[in-house]
Amino acid sequence: MSRRPPPTERAILALMSCVFCKIVAGEIPAKRVHEDDELVAFEDIKPEAPVHILIIPKRHISTLNDLGSGDDALVGAMIRQAASIAKARGVDATGYRTVFNCNAHAGQTVFHIHLHVLAGRGLGWPPG
Ligand code: 5GP
Ligand code: ZN
Repeated sequence: MSRRPPPTERAILALMSCVFCKIVAGEIPAKRVHEDDELVAFEDIKPEAPVHILIIPKRHISTLNDLGSGDDALVGAMIRQAASIAKARGVDATGYRTVFNCNAHAGQTVFHIHLHVLAGRGLGWPPG
């Protein structure tokens, strides 16, 4: 297993103020639907569909651009967790959308990577 470099001062300040790190730590309440060693999944506070769940890694990663090759299994686990939640909600057959927004043009507002799982209504395409 490869060693990670220690976080920079800037990274420490970022994760101290990160709302999703606070949810992981239990400092901000969230309606959790799943938790394991590396992931937490919870209901989005402002749902855009009848099912709107966010899946996040417990470790702070700001954007998709900050992923390394050592994170491939983590990202795979996030996507498989999305499929598992979709099945548990009974939307696996009707369909669901998974979205990672990255940076400004995609509308990323929380800089701790998160996989949106949206379902329960017809979802438009292409997105706005
Ligand atoms: P983004 O726009 O970054 O892709 O998505 C961020 C999502 O996080 C939004 O859908 C927003 O509603 C959700 N969100 C932001 N703050 C909180 C919070 O404190 N709790 C929960 N449950 N969701 C949040
Ligand atoms: Zn964070």
